[in-house]
Amino acid sequence: MHDLVIRNGRIVDGTGKPAFTGDVAIDGGVIAAVGPKAGAGRREIDASGLLVTPGWVDIHTHYDGQVTWDPYLTPSSWHGVTTVVMGNCGVGFAPVQPGKEEFLIGLMEGVEDIPGSALAAGIPWQWESFAQYLDALARMPRAIDVAAQIPHGAVRAYVMGERGAHNEAATPDDIARMAAVVREALCAGAIGVTSSRTLLHRAKNGEHVPGTFASEAEMTALGRTLGDAGHGVMELATDMVGPDTNLEWMAKVSIETGRPITILATAATPEPLDFERVMGLVRSWKRQGARLVPQVAARPAYVLMGLETTIHPFSTHRAYRSLVGRLKLEERVARMRDPEVRAQILNDEVGLKDPLGRHYLTLFDSIFALGDPPNYEPAREMSVGARARREGRTPQEVAYDLLLQRDGRELLYVPLGDYQSFDLERNRRLLIDPDTRLGVSDGGAHCGMVCDASAPTFMLTHWVRDRERGPRLGLEQVIRFQTSETAELYGFTDRGVLAPGMKADVNVIDFAGLHLYAPEIVYDFPAGARRLIQKVDGYKYTVVSGEVIYENGAPTGALPGKLVRGGRIAHPAP
Ligand SMILES: [Zn+2]
Repeated sequence: MHDLVIRNGRIVDGTGKPAFTGDVAIDGGVIAAVGPKAGAGRREIDASGLLVTPGWVDIHTHYDGQVTWDPYLTPSSWHGVTTVVMGNCGVGFAPVQPGKEEFLIGLMEGVEDIPGSALAAGIPWQWESFAQYLDALARMPRAIDVAAQIPHGAVRAYVMGERGAHNEAATPDDIARMAAVVREALCAGAIGVTSSRTLLHRAKNGEHVPGTFASEAEMTALGRTLGDAGHGVMELATDMVGPDTNLEWMAKVSIETGRPITILATAATPEPLDFERVMGLVRSWKRQGARLVPQVAARPAYVLMGLETTIHPFSTHRAYRSLVGRLKLEERVARMRDPEVRAQILNDEVGLKDPLGRHYLTLFDSIFALGDPPNYEPAREMSVGARARREGRTPQEVAYDLLLQRDGRELLYVPLGDYQSFDLERNRRLLIDPDTRLGVSDGGAHCGMVCDASAPTFMLTHWVRDRERGPRLGLEQVIRFQTSETAELYGFTDRGVLAPGMKADVNVIDFAGLHLYAPEIVYDFPAGARRLIQKVDGYKYTVVSGEVIYENGAPTGALPGKLVRGGRIAHPAP
């Protein structure tokens, strides 16, 4: 008698192999059999007509704070994610000198747009070292598995104090001490070490993330700790757009340590990423034994603008701020519908001096209504600018009226550099490149502007099922992208494939009924802080370690999730 049998589903096992109909049997949290006909189970799930897949492994999230107060890590777990990797892009909450917690909060708030008020109210600071942080996470009950990377920003501030926090150059002694802290964290179970090398990432006070300008010697010393520990990944948020992008030190570290280095390959700027050149470099270093893995996204980097988000085309107008800016949404919408108020706001100007900010707020040929269901691949003629020209109105008028739709909840979608061709062809080419990996969902982050924790669902709805403006991707291919491939990169040898001996993390999905809703603003974070969430229908069951955690989208109360420690992942029985 098995613990659980998922019967008669259409099994897509995560390896990329063609789907087949059969049963998945689970015992003791581990898959016992995958095949045509399993024996009876104490519990049976009828998966006739449903997809049965491994749970998704999302390698790029920022749940480092939320992980201490939300056992479900929503929205990711709603979307079938059963393992998240946190601590990306050089920011996180350990190690921390007692009394310096505020600094790390400001860093996370600035870089990842996670409300500092929520972090301050939600995080129970029970640690100083990274090992103590991991121990604290291990004690907390949770529904899905989490793994943590040690962030360079925190390490630098911890070891070098103010000098490190303000990006002063590290001495050889500083570097040796930072490497020792990282090594210790890896030995305690950190799954990697991360850093921010992009000028876009700034703390709330405007300063760049500690480590942004770190020398090659400092970066190399951090990377070498992976070799000492014998496990782990180095992750870098880096400006891949400049002509002088240099992957050389990364390649050398990877060759020396035998460990992978993953770099973000998205263009969060007006310029598109020179993908061909970066992939050329990656392939030439690969021939010399380096493993450099560009992380690519399900859709372009973008900003959502609405009346409740961080910015929108009128949020910096003095008239908007003084007339309606402080009102609750309902009253604000009512006032904004008043023709006099409308005229005053429309006659005012963007009050922002920052040229990049101005650029985005007035880029009407690249601003679209997102709609519900959301359209992430709108055609050029659907832009606010194109509509305005067609309708003989100003783009500001069109944008203003769009913001008032859906009772003021409509969102404007502003895809950045990668959307210059007005379709997702660039993303498709990045996704299917054998040397890239799917990532960059930034789950838990950018709470006032972006919601990509839903990316694994979007991969199925848009890329496999619904796309009409270009080629689609294969079902088995997409499921491989977000299971075995992401698991392999981070050394999760025990998951990502439905096979005997593997951890029983499983999604049972009504593929035809899979429905992604528009993102929405809610105020459910600690201290009532704001965040964007995105709901979904179609995940019938999500199973973690053999226990059903969601049934028809409702949590069952089971909390089988664990902290996954790097270097201690049990290989499955043969
Ligand atoms: Zn990130």
